[in-house]
Amino acid sequence: MTAYSGPVFEMAAQQFEVIAEYLCIPEDARARLLMPKRAVMVSCPIHRDDGTTAVFEGYRVQHHLTLGPTKGGTRFAPSVDLGEVAALAVWMSWKCALVGLPYGGAKGGISVDPSSLSKRELEALSRRYMQEMIPFVGPHTDVMAPDMGTNEQIMAWFMDTYSMYQGQTITEIVTGKPVSAGGTLGRREATGRGVAHLVHRAADELKLRLGSATAVVQGFGNVGSIAALELYNMGVKVIAVSDHTGALHQPAGLDIPKLVRHASSQGSLAGYSNELGLDPLEMLTIPCDILAPAAVERVIDATIAANLRCRILAEAANGPTTPEADRILEQRAAEVFLIPDILCNSGGVVVSYFEWVQDLQRLFWEEDEVMRREYQVLDRAFERVLARSKRDKVFNRTAAMAIGVERVRGAKETRGLFP
Ligand code: NAD
Repeated sequence: MTAYSGPVFEMAAQQFEVIAEYLCIPEDARARLLMPKRAVMVSCPIHRDDGTTAVFEGYRVQHHLTLGPTKGGTRFAPSVDLGEVAALAVWMSWKCALVGLPYGGAKGGISVDPSSLSKRELEALSRRYMQEMIPFVGPHTDVMAPDMGTNEQIMAWFMDTYSMYQGQTITEIVTGKPVSAGGTLGRREATGRGVAHLVHRAADELKLRLGSATAVVQGFGNVGSIAALELYNMGVKVIAVSDHTGALHQPAGLDIPKLVRHASSQGSLAGYSNELGLDPLEMLTIPCDILAPAAVERVIDATIAANLRCRILAEAANGPTTPEADRILEQRAAEVFLIPDILCNSGGVVVSYFEWVQDLQRLFWEEDEVMRREYQVLDRAFERVLARSKRDKVFNRTAAMAIGVERVRGAKETRGLFP
């Protein structure tokens, strides 16, 4: 039992144990790799529009600082708690290490439903959260980014709040900012583009023609909508999409550009169609070539894993598959090609890294340069994961996580244990 105990952290811990066994990491070296370096919990009081005061709980977990500053998103969602944030920080570490970024993992968030706040209340809460975090973050200590329930505007408020306290503009304190406030071209699209790019690589590996392939995308926020659009532009028929308001199914293929316009003007998929409705519980097991869960954790359990009817499982969300489901998917590896989350959605942090580098240098790149470099990093990581999985005959998740854990472990061993 630790302060992080809970279903999501248990999941990260169980996954780590599998890797520790595979890498033969001695028992006494495991906690140093898994347990977060620091965790901060803060109370964020704000004035509500009706004149009352409300207090929200905020968190930030920094997993390790061995390779450089920590880096990770900020989630505004009712589910947010210390354990969830800690698990996400751990995954972020393996992800950054896998793709070769000079970062440890971090994650933060507020337990709140952002849709229950007015714009003024959301700004007040975002600014208060950043203000509470000022003693613990910095461009060379911990750099925040968006995640579920947060966006470019919130990153701009974070950056402005931090800068006002420092007395100068410090754009490199957060990534995922609007381009007008020091953000990079290509960040908003980076995660979804990366997902689609890696699906393309996996399809090549499986000799699957994307022009005649079908896809199902769960979640239609930043990651899901861009991934669906990119797949659509590659000629894939996207036959089902969903969000927290419901699911839509059209075997002939959905008009994804129209859905993207609807979701961005209405805030969700609700109201798009009365005829195309589907039970969201059926989404994940419809026959398709590509399944991309791009919403929340733990949506693929053992029962769903046994019933998946896709050829490629592209884990766009963080932690969509439970450890019980993993054991089944490992046995089904010849049928279902897994692009594990820490690889699949890593395009986001890769371009966040580019944003940080550009902010530090005050030198900005063209969008095609950002994309070229993103795909180069993703291709290298994809090839490493595939080579490792073939060499050791291990599951793609094991290969990806092992590469990440090995890099962090190597750095810790070389640096030694202080004092
Ligand atoms: P977002 O807030 O923009 O969108 C989340 C989407 O999921 C929304 O469409 C929401 O309606 C939907 N959703 C929520 N609960 C659902 C449910 N039960 N069933 C179906 N849909 C549901 O968030 P995002 O930034 O797109 O993040 C999605 C996932 O991708 C998260 O796991 C996040 O950690 C991960 N991720 C995001 C980024 C990024 O750059 N934004 C990077 C890496 C990983």
